[in-house]
Amino acid sequence: MTASEPKGAPTVLPDDSYNRALVENVRPPTWTNPTPAGRYNLVVVGAGTAGLVAAAGAAGLGARVALVERRLMGGDCLNFGCVPSKAILRVAHVAALVREAPGYGVAVDGPPRVDFGAVMARMRRLRAALSPTDSASRFRSLGVDVYFGDARFVGPDTVDVGGQQLRFSRAVVATGSRAATLPVAGLAEAGFLTNETIFSLTDLPRRLLVVGAGPIGCELAQAFRRLGSEVAIVSLDPRLLPREDPDAAAILTARFEREQIALNLGARLVRVEAGPEGKVIVFDRGRGEERAGGDVILLAVGRVPDVEGFGLEAAGVRHERTGLVVDDRLRTTNPRIYAAGDVCSGYKFTHAADAMARRRRRPASGATTSPPSRCPSRRSTAPCSRVGRRGSRASISSAAADASLAPRWSPATPARRSARSSSP
Ligand SMILES: Cc1cc2nc3c(=O)[nH]c(=O)nc-3n(C[C@H](O)[C@H](O)[C@H](O)COP(=O)(O)OP(=O)(O)OC[C@H]3O[C@@H](n4cnc5c(N)ncnc54)[C@H](O)[C@@H]3O)c2cc1C
Repeated sequence: MTASEPKGAPTVLPDDSYNRALVENVRPPTWTNPTPAGRYNLVVVGAGTAGLVAAAGAAGLGARVALVERRLMGGDCLNFGCVPSKAILRVAHVAALVREAPGYGVAVDGPPRVDFGAVMARMRRLRAALSPTDSASRFRSLGVDVYFGDARFVGPDTVDVGGQQLRFSRAVVATGSRAATLPVAGLAEAGFLTNETIFSLTDLPRRLLVVGAGPIGCELAQAFRRLGSEVAIVSLDPRLLPREDPDAAAILTARFEREQIALNLGARLVRVEAGPEGKVIVFDRGRGEERAGGDVILLAVGRVPDVEGFGLEAAGVRHERTGLVVDDRLRTTNPRIYAAGDVCSGYKFTHAADAMARRRRRPASGATTSPPSRCPSRRSTAPCSRVGRRGSRASISSAAADASLAPRWSPATPARRSARSSSP
């Protein structure tokens, strides 16, 4: 293998025709990295939403652009985030509607039977169908030099990729974020899924334990419940969606209780046990140890920015726990280097990453920009999904209307006490 050949094209599981088509687009196994010829106007590190938008925009303005991705182009949104989650949520919504159909006066023959394997295959098909937009060949056709491999800053104006040095006038760090983990005894040994692995499931977990009550935990808890899993949420937060409007969270809580999702809130995780009966989360809400059992644990306790292990120090780029330090033009502490997306923003949304990258796409012109001061956010739980700013009248009133009009919920399977929390 030469320096220009990227190593280790990843396999996305399950290794079926849809996932092979996805990989063929966003991480072609036979890809050969270009050979850099002189200094780039712009080097973009990370090919998620922010990186793709920054690279395409700069190339469109005539800049010489290199784009470096270590795993899959499209980043979280296409591969492990918005696209797969919303594909599944859509089916969960359909299943819920069928279940509620009699309440609307529509007769159905009993509860829906969900074919989870088919649900996930549909998701993989849709994801693969969207992947040409984020593909290596498309970006090459836009005039972008696409490199696969780990980017590493080796100086204030140089990035190394697999032994090749890319020199730049400007760079954008768009390395995104990853799922946070928890230092809880027994958790690693018991095993858990995150957003990077849950979309590889092909069998429906009979009992799902969701750790975390933020938007990702809530969306997926409700989706899996509606697809037929018994679901319990365990969270340190005292309520669902702790960063959202309390009114909307209260409506969602009522809905989750009606859909028989067990809520263990304000719960400090003590340890995780694993045995033949499955996994057990032991937690404490101030009244002694309680337990919740399940077959699969989904960890959804927030996102941490990807700022370590790629030489930011060598480039003079400062970061904190919350991400890269940027000014109001998204410039880092190295004036040549900018940032965009989850790595530098509290607004961890695709549209925010896109907006930041658009503002930063005149790399050589020095056009002024600023991070979004107001950002619409999106959450797709039912009944209070929301597109809008926090506290907006629209979000609360639509939630309230939906909650008051929704017919009775009848679960696919009777809730079993074993999936719920119980006092010892
Ligand atoms: C389950 C889930 C559901 C979501 N749903 C929604 C939704 O409905 N709506 C919404 O707006 N947002 C949603 N999001 C958030 C959205 O996915 C992110 O905000 C968005 O993907 C951020 O884009 P980004 O470009 O900043 O980072 P990412 O998409 O994370 O891309 C960063 C890229 O950088 C690469 N990289 C990292 N380090 C290096 C390196 N050293 N060298 C080379 N490459 C590197 C990574 O491999 C990755 O491909 C969801 C997220 C999750 C997890």
